[in-house]
Amino acid sequence: MPNADSPPVFRARGLTKKYGRRGKLALDGVDLSIPPGRVIGLVGPNGAGKSTLLHLACGLIEPTAGSLTVLGSTPAANASHLARVGFVAQNTPVYGSFTVAEHLALGQKLNPAWDSALAQRRIRQVGLNPSQKAGHLSGGQRAQLALTIAAAKRPELLIFDEPAAALDPLARQGFLQNLMEFVRELGASAVLSSHLLGDIEQVCDYLIVLCDSQVQLAGDTRDLLAGHARLVAPRADFDRLPPSVEVISVEHSADHSSAIVRTGLTSGPLHPVSLEELVLAYMTRAAAGVEAANWEVAR
Ligand code: ADP
Repeated sequence: MPNADSPPVFRARGLTKKYGRRGKLALDGVDLSIPPGRVIGLVGPNGAGKSTLLHLACGLIEPTAGSLTVLGSTPAANASHLARVGFVAQNTPVYGSFTVAEHLALGQKLNPAWDSALAQRRIRQVGLNPSQKAGHLSGGQRAQLALTIAAAKRPELLIFDEPAAALDPLARQGFLQNLMEFVRELGASAVLSSHLLGDIEQVCDYLIVLCDSQVQLAGDTRDLLAGHARLVAPRADFDRLPPSVEVISVEHSADHSSAIVRTGLTSGPLHPVSLEELVLAYMTRAAAGVEAANWEVAR
């Protein structure tokens, strides 16, 4: 269980990753410090750098520049780091010709802290047949198996890269429920990348919005929602906003404008924002910045 002295889950300083010498920057000078004990939602469009950040956190790849520590130490693809971090990759890969029981036996062999009782109990609870070959499991069952294997290592941090994207809504619901139960049982932190904002809203209490290789927004979800609002006002009023109000994205109609603002206001025509509105506002702003930069280059 993390306490006040526990190191941050992620601490990045100028974290930069470029694939190959001529490759595009996948992460560009990212700074982050995330307290432990959170369930972190990592959201952003395709190609934003989400998988790159998660692969760096697992020690599967190395930064081009800058630094990243995970749970206080530098990630490396070695046994001691991998024992502390459970990773469920995209499409929850399993070995098709191995049975469920063989997966658990392999997990036990490879992981000194393997919790066999937890693994067996969870497999029973989600109704997996131990003698079933993993290649014959449904997508939802495969995801549950991969989640059980990651959790039975008793890691301090569980990392999921788009784990539920391919699942139908019912299987997704079961997966997310199990994920939360594991996080609670292990006293672990978790990071979950997803396109599905509903999933993020349901399970995450910390949000990172990553667009165009940079962090656009990061913080406790509750604080972020409290610190932003939708402002609906005549267009001319937007020219007279106090400097404490930052407009993140704005839409104009004939007589009114509607904006998502980071607000220093305590009164006025403000409305609460949803997580989806907040994320979309930052994504829209980042996309507009990229468009403007491309236009400058083209000129
Ligand atoms: P996301 O997970 O948000 O979709 P990625 O981290 O997969 O984003 O990709 C970020 C950028 O890095 C993209 O432009 C992608 O094309 C590029 N990229 C990712 N992996 C590689 C790789 N192995 N080799 C070259 N470029 C890569």
